[in-house]
Amino acid sequence: MSQGTVAYNTGWWRGAGRALLLRCPRCGRSPVFRRLFLMNHKCATCLLEFDRGTGYWLGAMMFNMGFAIGAVIVVFLLSLWATSPDPNWDAVIYITIGAAAVIPLLFFPFSRTLWIAAERWARLRDGVELE
Ligand SMILES: [Zn+2]
Repeated sequence: MSQGTVAYNTGWWRGAGRALLLRCPRCGRSPVFRRLFLMNHKCATCLLEFDRGTGYWLGAMMFNMGFAIGAVIVVFLLSLWATSPDPNWDAVIYITIGAAAVIPLLFFPFSRTLWIAAERWARLRDGVELE
């Protein structure tokens, strides 16, 4: 590959790694977000469309909800463990509710970039993206 050539034929793991860095899953060169909750419409380098239409973000919402539920359960169990053997239920409940409010907001950009990577990966056939 010559210098300046963009590797578009990327598998799931490379695309997911780029997504976790909030970069374009296809080329990894351009950021997906302009600000925390404001996305670019397409990649400035490879022109990958980030928003593919109505209903596209349902998968990202599913990722976000699944991650948030798992993380809130972990926070609940850790706060329960930290206050055992005599749990401080008020503290456990407040910490768990706070986690349930904050974690989905913090994971929001990652859920979107991971969804873009997963959806793009699902459209790959022999290194070619299907429309
Ligand atoms: Zn790109």
